[in-house]
Amino acid sequence: MKVLKFGGTSVGSAQRIKDVAELVRGRGRNIIVLSAMSGTTNTLVEIADYLSRKNVNGAKDTINNLENRYRGVIAELYSDPEMLRMATERLDESFALLRSLAHDNFEASDEKIILAQGELMSTAMMELYMKEQGINCVWLPALEFMRTDENGEADIDYITEILCPMIEHHPDADLFVTQGFICRNSTGGIDNLQRGGSDLTASLIGAAIHAAEIEIWTDIDGMHNNDPRFVNRTTPVAELHFDEAAELAYFGAKILHPTCVMPAKFNNIPIRVLNTMDPTARGTLIYNTVHSRSIKSVAAKDGVIAVKIKSSRMLMASGFIHRVFEIFDNYKRPIDMIATSEVGISVTIDNPLKLEHIIDELKEIGTVTVDYDMVIICVVGDLEWHNRGFEAKAVDALRDIPVRMISYGGSNYNISFLVKAEDKVGALNALTDALFPET
Ligand code: ADP
Ligand code: ASP
Ligand code: MG
Repeated sequence: MKVLKFGGTSVGSAQRIKDVAELVRGRGRNIIVLSAMSGTTNTLVEIADYLSRKNVNGAKDTINNLENRYRGVIAELYSDPEMLRMATERLDESFALLRSLAHDNFEASDEKIILAQGELMSTAMMELYMKEQGINCVWLPALEFMRTDENGEADIDYITEILCPMIEHHPDADLFVTQGFICRNSTGGIDNLQRGGSDLTASLIGAAIHAAEIEIWTDIDGMHNNDPRFVNRTTPVAELHFDEAAELAYFGAKILHPTCVMPAKFNNIPIRVLNTMDPTARGTLIYNTVHSRSIKSVAAKDGVIAVKIKSSRMLMASGFIHRVFEIFDNYKRPIDMIATSEVGISVTIDNPLKLEHIIDELKEIGTVTVDYDMVIICVVGDLEWHNRGFEAKAVDALRDIPVRMISYGGSNYNISFLVKAEDKVGALNALTDALFPET
């Protein structure tokens, strides 16, 4: 059994839903994970935002517009009036729920319920369309098996325990369809796996059922060697090691959710990134093999803050770095990059929450400088330290760009540079010119 995940663009219109149904039929008894139709989650965020500002009319207007779009899609999708009626009923449930939340006593937990409606609707529409096509498709409720624990991490034991019997319960099913992104948290409330989280759903399901492969179907022909939103000359990378793909995803390659590689890696399940618009394109295979002696790809992570703590107390003294880490840890702010010298340490974080408190405490042990609006540029490949020349090429590519920090040697797969946000596009392009001149 495989897990096939289709992103928002892949199910973004009636025609695309039809194309996906055609693509998955005859590929085996697999689990199909769907995102919400493109634009939907952003619109749902907008609705929640209006409500948090007590602009109930703004929210109602946005709900009406979204409903019109969905009515148009289902009118085009089904030829069978009975299927259209059933789809209308399913959409009615979601829109009635959204309207029931459109009042001025908005609570934070309401946002999660609002955001869950996109995936609930796209999967209901797909299930009914497949049924219309004569496919015995079973709709699996993610809110019953996808759960996170007290730390917000996926509870893989629970997912396995609930999902596997659910599948076994339907021996006649041709296919299963389920919602990406949505889950319940440790207190049983509706929650989600963060934006782009459908990739993580697919990987978690793959791990739970020991899938033969996890396929991430999207709108581009695989993981490219740089971010195609900022660099023109990018090409797909045929193969990546799990750790290389994990670094790229964590450091900004939007094509994969930051943590989705891990469940696949731990269970040694290959991930294939494929293009719904060009299904025969080779795509990218992510697995447990390193193709050595090459740099594979570059990614950029935005919204980074650099904090430098200088102290003469660090000189020859033990415990200084421990104290610095402890302060960040007490405020639950994970550190991404680190650079140290004998008299100071620079670290980066990606979230300004509680930063004033952190700075206050750091000032007790050293002189603190903060740089906002920074970007981590992450170069990924076979960067094992015996391989000569690769890091030199990357450093040389950035010769005209001010670099605030460099981190190398933390893994065999990456060298990271911290630059100003305004230098991001220049840095990405300079790296493509230097590292992939033939493309
Ligand atoms: P989906 O809706 O299918 O989940 P996403 O928008 O989340 O799709 O991810 C696909 C997009 O990721 C591509 O259209 C591309 O713009 C962007 N992207 C960023 N970095 C890369 C990369 N290294 N390779 C390919 N695509 C990338
Ligand atoms: N629909 C969600 C989002 O837009 C999850 C996903 O598409 O992966 O973030
Ligand atoms: Mg995505």
